[in-house]
Amino acid sequence: MEHFIDVVLPIPLEKLFTYKISEQESDFLKVGMRVAVPFGKSKIYTALVYRIHNSPPQVYEPKEIHQILDDRPIVTAVQLKHWQWIADYYMCTLGEVVRSALPSAFLLESETLVLPNRIEEIDELQLKDEEFLILEALRHQSALKISEIVAIVDRKNVLPLVNKLVEKRAIQLKEEIYEQYKPKLVRYVRLGEAYDSEEKLEELLNSLTRAPKQSQVVLSLFSLQAKTKKPIKVTDLEKESGGSKAVIKSLITKGILDEYQIKTDRVGYDCSGQIQGRLNLNNEQKKAFKTIQNSFQDNKVCLLYGVTSSGKTEVYIKLIEQVLSEGKQALYLLPEIALTSQLINRLQAYFGNKVAVYHSKYSIHERVETWNNVLNHQEKAQIVIGARSALFLPFSNLGLIVVDEEHESSFKQFDPAPRYHARDAAIVLANFQNCKCVLGSATPSIESYKNAKKGKYGLAEMKQRYGNVLMPAIELVDIKEATRKKRMKGHFSERLQETISEALNEGEQIILFQNRRGFAPIIECTTCGHSSQCPNCDVSLTYHQFKNQLRCHYCGYHMALQLACEACGNSTLDKKGFGTEQVQQELEILFPEAKVGRMDLDTTRGKYAYEKIITSFEQQEMDILVGTQMVTKGLDFRNVSLVGIMNADSLLNFPDYRAHERSFQLLTQVAGRAGRTKKRGKVLIQTYNPYHQILQQVSSTDYEKMYEEQIYEREQYNYPPELRIIKITLKDKDYNKLNEASQWFANSLRNVLKDTVLGPEFPVVSRIRRLYLKNIILKVQKEKPVAQTKNSIKRIEKSFNAISQYKSVKVIYNVDHI
Ligand code: ADP
Ligand code: ZN
Repeated sequence: MEHFIDVVLPIPLEKLFTYKISEQESDFLKVGMRVAVPFGKSKIYTALVYRIHNSPPQVYEPKEIHQILDDRPIVTAVQLKHWQWIADYYMCTLGEVVRSALPSAFLLESETLVLPNRIEEIDELQLKDEEFLILEALRHQSALKISEIVAIVDRKNVLPLVNKLVEKRAIQLKEEIYEQYKPKLVRYVRLGEAYDSEEKLEELLNSLTRAPKQSQVVLSLFSLQAKTKKPIKVTDLEKESGGSKAVIKSLITKGILDEYQIKTDRVGYDCSGQIQGRLNLNNEQKKAFKTIQNSFQDNKVCLLYGVTSSGKTEVYIKLIEQVLSEGKQALYLLPEIALTSQLINRLQAYFGNKVAVYHSKYSIHERVETWNNVLNHQEKAQIVIGARSALFLPFSNLGLIVVDEEHESSFKQFDPAPRYHARDAAIVLANFQNCKCVLGSATPSIESYKNAKKGKYGLAEMKQRYGNVLMPAIELVDIKEATRKKRMKGHFSERLQETISEALNEGEQIILFQNRRGFAPIIECTTCGHSSQCPNCDVSLTYHQFKNQLRCHYCGYHMALQLACEACGNSTLDKKGFGTEQVQQELEILFPEAKVGRMDLDTTRGKYAYEKIITSFEQQEMDILVGTQMVTKGLDFRNVSLVGIMNADSLLNFPDYRAHERSFQLLTQVAGRAGRTKKRGKVLIQTYNPYHQILQQVSSTDYEKMYEEQIYEREQYNYPPELRIIKITLKDKDYNKLNEASQWFANSLRNVLKDTVLGPEFPVVSRIRRLYLKNIILKVQKEKPVAQTKNSIKRIEKSFNAISQYKSVKVIYNVDHI
């Protein structure tokens, strides 16, 4: 009898491929193991075994596999089922899901680039001869393709060898050079607790009369404290007093001064892995916890709707605790950007080293390790906290999935395929794994809230902030009048300026939010109106002051800023629109004393740049943080008393059916950063239109009303959640061909389907990276089985691909486009 396997190749091909195996291999192989296989003329791929059988393929002569790469499955049956669901639902291939799901180190292929690992020391004695040979070669060459390694060691089957080197951390794969970020711990001092009364203080100063150096240090501390209300750094005290490190140290030893670190203090956790004591939920949290458990008993997903700072994290912690006690694993999903060390520290403080983090910013070694730890149900990976890709880990005994900030649209993968929504895929996974699922948010998505209201999900609510902290006071500032009367200073109203001054005087911190969208600064010629365009994309180039460049946000094209207009030659160039950079600049003029930091795409490009800014703000090295969307995400800063929104209108006016829902969520989330401790926080929203219903709903924290209005509009105008949207994007270099092809596609859809077909239409940016784009929007009724519709679309695509002149046109599906 002959033996065969069907494998998934990590490439966008619809079909599985069949390879020939020997009888022994057939006995050994199991579904979910990897094999190295030849493909095409000379390529080698890592493929995943999907089926083992005895029927030869009909139309081609199967090749033999090169090698088996695992001695047991690294992917479970439930995972494969889930990935197949993702491929079917989101209209992509299983290969695309596999490529996205497995750590890249698991998918070596002939084209993979291997680099030496220069970060860690390797013990050469531990290396086998062939491994040594490869590392030798890497000493002389900065990188090697796997196909080149084949030549070096002179044999075909090198993938296991390379896998071993990855495991030994001797090599890196391209694109994954990584640096470890360690927050720098700044030392601060304050007067020892024993000296907090005036008498004690006097006593102290008297006792120090014979130690003038020490007395000088104490006096300097007072004068620093008088100047600023902020924590005093040891280094500042050294400078101010002229005292030596030794003097300060002796004062600390005597307990006259108290040394502390803000980071450690705040999370109550030090790096020795000490575990925090038991956690007591307050009444509202207890009630929410009970409600969630009840809905779990009815096998329902539960939505936890709790206002900002209501203590949702603690409720999750209790739920996780329970799951662990049953010997099961827990998964905590967050949008990439909300996955901060703040939250990781909090969970680690509670669960110690049971917490593993899975994140695209981590090294391949760490990702492989976590994968294996989860697979083997190791202690170290009982709880995985991660961004959407953590959904693909090989859980064997998952008990709970938490989807925190479930309203975040960044849970939806935009590019490349699979274009899945991690929240929705998590709910399906929970179903396959027979585990519980809780969705949490201070501003639930319209979809989830609707599901909760109609009883499909359970609903737990928390309306109070934890510890009697008040919700911030939200004030709408009308800037229409002020602009007309020229009373604005740059983009700052008088009201905003005066509130910032007050906060600065109190030694409190401030966050200013400037929307990313729609306000990129563009340089326009005031004589002829020309602005520089990207040669590859249909957008104006935006101005980046920092490098004095014009840049394209889509493809990265850039050029130096010209002094004269390219079109008419006049030097009448002027800036339009404003971004975070400009806000920062204006602040430097309005508040020269204040230290201003900025957090946006430009300042967070480096691997840990984001963490560095957060830490520095946390440690109060900055007074004001100016930022985009990034400042909204689940951050917990103790000393922020004021949040200012520079301009709410650009959010509200965005041309998208979700613009209002998003504006409400975004503004409420930014506002939630203010006043998270005893003193009531303040939020100022500058707008031309203070009577806009969404702004009214934000300022009265009326989610309910927002929801009712939005649901009504969606019903009226036929938008989700009333129905499903599938967006079909066609791309081609040739403008005319694209027009014709997309018209053909849309017509066929109209002929075959009864659903509403809109378009084809050019999107706002209609050319990206030299390709023109056109969108067709399909509105599918919810009652109809969506699988049927998708099959019809796929059939149309088949006929489309058979038309020779449309061969070059790319077709991309985005199911549940948001
Ligand atoms: P949310 O995630 O709902 O915005 P958090 O979970 O960040 O709120 O809680 C806000 C603050 O209240 C945090 O600093 C948290 O440590 C504290 N907190 C919440 N619940 C408790 C509790 N049961 N015991 C002690 N501190 C709590
Ligand atoms: Zn471009």
